[in-house]
Amino acid sequence: MNKIYLDHAATTPIIPEVLAAMEPYLKDYYGNPSSVYSLGQRAAHAVSEAREKVARAIGAKEEEIIFTSGGSEADNTAIKGVVFALQNKGKHIVTSKIEHPAILSTCEQLEKHFGFEVTYLDVDKEGFVDPEDVRKALRQDTILVSIMLANNEIGTIEPIKEISRIVKERDIYFHTDAVQAMGQIPIDVNELGIDLLSLSSHKINGPKGMGALYVKRGVKLLPLIAGGAQERNRRAGTENVAGIVGFAKAMELASEKLEENVAFLRKLRNKLINGIEKNIDHVILNGPRDEHRLPNNVNFSFRYIEGESILLNLDMLGIAASSGSACSSGSLDPSHVLLAIGHSHETAHGSLRLSLGKGNTEEEIDYVIDILPGIINKIREMSPLYEG
Ligand SMILES: *Cc1c(COP(=O)(O)O)cnc(C)c1O
Repeated sequence: MNKIYLDHAATTPIIPEVLAAMEPYLKDYYGNPSSVYSLGQRAAHAVSEAREKVARAIGAKEEEIIFTSGGSEADNTAIKGVVFALQNKGKHIVTSKIEHPAILSTCEQLEKHFGFEVTYLDVDKEGFVDPEDVRKALRQDTILVSIMLANNEIGTIEPIKEISRIVKERDIYFHTDAVQAMGQIPIDVNELGIDLLSLSSHKINGPKGMGALYVKRGVKLLPLIAGGAQERNRRAGTENVAGIVGFAKAMELASEKLEENVAFLRKLRNKLINGIEKNIDHVILNGPRDEHRLPNNVNFSFRYIEGESILLNLDMLGIAASSGSACSSGSLDPSHVLLAIGHSHETAHGSLRLSLGKGNTEEEIDYVIDILPGIINKIREMSPLYEG
């Protein structure tokens, strides 16, 4: 088992408060929320309370929250739901090259099988989308723009307010994937000026297989999952009651403890970044510094090295980390995000993401700063590319 967990961008542990909130709905209150008798209504009441909590955490109204099976389903529902509903108006979508695969693969499906056109915007070397590029990409037939609130690999926080202002000058829907941003930056859907927003429970210490899509009142959406009348006819299927209750608890805690968590994570993050830059040569910090970077994200490229070999060495010492994103590991392709910010295939392969959580300690960070230089040196000495 890993003793030091530094992969919170991949998933997070369930915290005790969340587990405690879920337990009664896994054990005693097993009723179907659609049933009329008390056992069912007890579950329906829990779902309704949970919906209110999730809505409150992002400044939305209850009826604007659709519970989904996670961030991927929320992203798919946002994109497919909107473009299928609006395809008579136009078939053009604008997104960026650094979106999560749940967005990019969805867009590719729409191009390949459904005749939509997608513009994938470039980003700069820190991963920022230029709002003016969004303006230039908008066309007469554009129906949807989707740009993530914060990137899961390099932690870039995008200028979503500026982008939404440009998009909303026109009659075009705007979606943002806020899965990594939740719990790390304040989110108010009205202040951000967006129409649709995706969330995932397991990235904020809630249970896996649970998430939500915020859909602003009046936005047209074709449901992805057809069936019963759950979620106001926008997402069929008997509710995952315990999951919904746990997710709502996690959302409540994430928003209540935002400032405290951000201050703590920033301190650890900066310590880790400074320590690595001080002790290791030929390193490149991927993504921006300071306030435009997610408080929990550290991502470095180490020249002359394979990211996978760093991970194996860290694992032997009980440290869990990631190279690029967990979604693309297992494949030999370098991270699409690192390529988009201008890395060669070679430097993109030598990358390491360390993502922090509230369970981490300063001692753990000190330990990583201590042992990482030795690991990097050992691997470099075996590399034919490295000459000291
Ligand atoms: C993890 C993640 C997702 C997918 O969420 P799941 O709940 O795992 O389906 C989507 N977008 C981003 C930015 C993510 O980090």
